[in-house]
Amino acid sequence: MGDTRVCDCKVGRVADEFDLAGVHESLAERWVRDRDDYSLRELARYFDERVLTAAMREAGEDPLGSEVASAYDALTDDAVSSGERVQVENRLSRAGVDVDAVREAFVSHQTVHTHLRECLDVEKETGPEGDPTDRAKDTLFALQSRTEAVTESTVDSLANSSLALDDFDVLVSVSVTCAACGRSYDVGELLDRGGCTCKEP
Ligand SMILES: [Zn+2]
Ligand SMILES: [Zn+2]
Repeated sequence: MGDTRVCDCKVGRVADEFDLAGVHESLAERWVRDRDDYSLRELARYFDERVLTAAMREAGEDPLGSEVASAYDALTDDAVSSGERVQVENRLSRAGVDVDAVREAFVSHQTVHTHLRECLDVEKETGPEGDPTDRAKDTLFALQSRTEAVTESTVDSLANSSLALDDFDVLVSVSVTCAACGRSYDVGELLDRGGCTCKEP
């Protein structure tokens, strides 16, 4: 380990730790693809599912993609009941998967975005002809990534003196609340889904 690590951000560290061969190329390719391009949320999910698959294989399982996807939903989706979640956690634990370690390894879409832009130096083509939603996402995520980076270095600089903290992760999330119905969304999620559910026919 170590010699394949492309960077020291969380994506790089986790990819190295779980030995995710070719994952950086796959992320970059899915990110810049013209048609059927992946949203950052889908890229984060793709990465997380690779982590989960690796952990399950390490434990001697040979899961199908659909099994990984449903286990991932159970671990991360707020819409899944806690009973169902516990059931999946127990099943994985019994199989020998370190569920906490896997969950901690999951990445946010912003982390993926920062990794793509800053570590892999991949930029999505969103010129004046590009999709306005994509351009808006670029602007917003760049801002969130910056906030994340500044927060991280600020907290880091205090962590050895006036702040009692060892390892940490910073997640910047911006919510937008629909004034009509009161539902709130992560701004990236709102742009991905194309509007509030109360506006759907
Ligand atoms: Zn990175
Ligand atoms: Zn609404």
